[in-house]
Amino acid sequence: MKLKIKRRDLESIEKHALRVFPLECCGLLVGRAARGIFNVEEVVQANNIHESEVSFEADAELVYRAIDAAGAEGLELIGIYHSHPNTRAYISAADAEVMKLWPNVAWLVAGVVGEQVVEKKAFVLREGKVTELKIEIG
Ligand SMILES: [Zn+2]
Repeated sequence: MKLKIKRRDLESIEKHALRVFPLECCGLLVGRAARGIFNVEEVVQANNIHESEVSFEADAELVYRAIDAAGAEGLELIGIYHSHPNTRAYISAADAEVMKLWPNVAWLVAGVVGEQVVEKKAFVLREGKVTELKIEIG
């Protein structure tokens, strides 16, 4: 299983993570998903309404609007991204809880340390199990 994302979309996520550092950033990945391949077509930045260094929640209204807009373009919400300030890219205990509400959706996590994105990883919860997705850029 893999997450395919264009370099410029990945760069916009990195810029977002650095801009709001040391808070967590979050946003949505819009595109198409089939047979374990998540194809990102668009990145939608969201505000982290927690304004927290250790947690995130995207503005619900923005999420609904983005899902509507994606549907109008024949796309769907295929993923969520967020950053981990001063730590690595992994699924935290809190992430694992929220993930249960968003199964079969790709979770892209960016670890930001020393004003640099040091690690990016993607995961999906499928059939009750968290699996890492290979990130393919291009
Ligand atoms: Zn997290």
